[in-house]
Amino acid sequence: MFGVYAPGQQASQLTYFGLFALQHRGQESAGMAVSNGETTMVSKDMGLVTQVFNERTLAALDGHLAIGHTRYSTTGSTVWDNAQPAYRQVGEAAVALAHNGNLTNTIQLAETLQLDNVTDSELMLEAISREVDATRSDGTGLFQAVMKVAPSFEGAFSLTIMDQGNLVALRDPHGFRPLCLGQLPDGGWVVASETAALDILGADFDREVEPGEMVVINASGLKTYRPFEITPDPKLCVFEFVYFARPDSHLLGRNIHAARQQMGRILADESPVDADVIVPVPESGIPAAQGFAEVSRIHYADGLIKNRYVGRTFIEPSQMLRDRGIRMKLNPIPDTLAGHRVVLVDDSIVRGSTTRQLVTMVREAGATEIHLRISSPPYKWPCFYGMDTSDRSRLLAAERSVDEIQEFLEVDSLAYLSIEGLLAASGGGSFCTACLTNDYPTDISGQAGKFVLEVL
Ligand code: AMP
Repeated sequence: MFGVYAPGQQASQLTYFGLFALQHRGQESAGMAVSNGETTMVSKDMGLVTQVFNERTLAALDGHLAIGHTRYSTTGSTVWDNAQPAYRQVGEAAVALAHNGNLTNTIQLAETLQLDNVTDSELMLEAISREVDATRSDGTGLFQAVMKVAPSFEGAFSLTIMDQGNLVALRDPHGFRPLCLGQLPDGGWVVASETAALDILGADFDREVEPGEMVVINASGLKTYRPFEITPDPKLCVFEFVYFARPDSHLLGRNIHAARQQMGRILADESPVDADVIVPVPESGIPAAQGFAEVSRIHYADGLIKNRYVGRTFIEPSQMLRDRGIRMKLNPIPDTLAGHRVVLVDDSIVRGSTTRQLVTMVREAGATEIHLRISSPPYKWPCFYGMDTSDRSRLLAAERSVDEIQEFLEVDSLAYLSIEGLLAASGGGSFCTACLTNDYPTDISGQAGKFVLEVL
């Protein structure tokens, strides 16, 4: 998710590069809304940022104010209608919204608004738009509307919202999903899910948007508000540290790559193994494997090569595509693996399908033993805050012990990082660890799955 307010600059170009840096967060669709203060244009389509936009389409999107989005769906199907930014024309106001996260009161909100066949993001836009409509006669518009309806949203939402004159950035009181604020070299403000998007634009990191904070940027500058009555209770998703965020991003002031290396070091301390070679599962396992090798003093070598042009297979929505993707993604180097006792290091096992195929591949390449080391604890519980794992039955570790998983994956040994080790490597702090501990920071009793509002 991205947003920019940059007088005198072409916001569509800046948004394009920002989204390009954030492509790893979602690959189903990409889009942006751009305004020149009067007219707003929205352009979005299925596919990657580079497939959706080109120089010609960007040049046509004129204006200094924009928001952008790449989608990884957690509510609703992967279809054009659900691509973001979501957009409504409300009288004179053109309101667009981009959302990272997942609401946990989607059903109640849909009932209140009398809507179905929409996403949680569309519901938020609808709620805001109705309020804009009610208040626009007094000229307060978007700002008042968001202040008023934001407390009715529950769960995970980092949002960028705009009309023709304002860029609004909002983070839920738990701050489940990241959101940061930066200043452009030629003036103007940027908001983005991760700091890597600021780097690509040469923007200076200013600070994170705080949990429970709303930032409004317009012609009179930047102002900050607190729309929520409840006290902020920071619970950044710990899986951002494990897997999701880019290694070159910083969260809570910590570099993600360094945190992942530390996870590997702690894992080596907790679960040492006698072996010949440490092999990372690229690319997600690389920093942890480096840390593991450093502590264990076992030789580190590349034994699996990733095709650079294949995206993250897990993000593709159907199992059939996912299975095909895995085989396209990685290829072993038998010279590194044959005849050796291999420590295979990866960051996580979610459904287990990639890992199982990987183990077979490494075995076929001649490894004599495979010791699997995972730099996060077992992923046992569904996420309702923005990871597409709401179906518990598909989580490998949901009902299995570590021994049973070892047997299922056919490895010689298996060890996961402890939760204490993970939190220490991530710098302490207060995280959402629900997927690992069953400790959900909000009420999730109303959960009904990804397709809750779809009329089938
Ligand atoms: P699997 O064995 O199918 O559970 O896949 C494990 C692989 O998926 C690991 O290499 C992880 O890095 C990766 N992974 C974990 N979480 C996610 C996610 N939310 N999206 C995409 N890939 C993920």
